[in-house]
Amino acid sequence: MVREIILSFDVEQDAPPYLHSFKGIEQGLPRILEVLSRNNVHGTFFTTGEVAEKFPDAVEAIVCDGHELGSHGYDHGRFDKMDTGEAQKNIQRSLDALRPFYNVISFRAPNLKFPEEYYEMLREEGIKYDSSQAVYKGWKGGVTRVNGVLVIPATATSIFFRLPFRLLKTIVERAKNPVVLFSHPWEYSGVNVWRPDLRINAGEYAVKRLDEFIQWAKKEGYVFRTLKEWGNQVEKSTLTPK
Ligand SMILES: [Zn+2]
Repeated sequence: MVREIILSFDVEQDAPPYLHSFKGIEQGLPRILEVLSRNNVHGTFFTTGEVAEKFPDAVEAIVCDGHELGSHGYDHGRFDKMDTGEAQKNIQRSLDALRPFYNVISFRAPNLKFPEEYYEMLREEGIKYDSSQAVYKGWKGGVTRVNGVLVIPATATSIFFRLPFRLLKTIVERAKNPVVLFSHPWEYSGVNVWRPDLRINAGEYAVKRLDEFIQWAKKEGYVFRTLKEWGNQVEKSTLTPK
């Protein structure tokens, strides 16, 4: 059986809601892109509309390298704290900022918190694939369809890229397919934030770890896919008559 990994990156301001700087976009993102391109691996970059407006060149670089661009909302506001009208506006504003760069069909809500009743809104906006739910936050549904959107949950929280390597390996080996991992550009830039779990092993260490992880996974026979590639595969197999 093919074992697949979806590497994803949430492209946003540094360590929200604590900081409002963008060191991650300026320093961390180029480091991630270098590692991925050297290893010939593509990932999904869930980007806020705000980043697209402030750093169009960074978004251009993601797309030019052949990665998938997804939406991470407009300004990293939490959808579980928005009413329907606010959520709708936030999604539209994000897509308006991102779609000039790429035909966005994947979405991840900030803080991986997204009310199930809002999925219909995503579908109406042309979103087909979502990774706003997380196994580590108690999502029991596995890969499932919610109101017409295919939900592909995240496997582990981003700190695992910065903890001892054996922990990451164990999580990946025990996870259900596909293994959805994520981290943030600011973790690769060494942001100065008070929370130790956000700061530990950030910067150069995280860059090395990402590189090391990709090489290990390839050797073990894992295949890397973007969220869209994985979702399209599922759609195709569902459409095939049995
Ligand atoms: Zn985020």
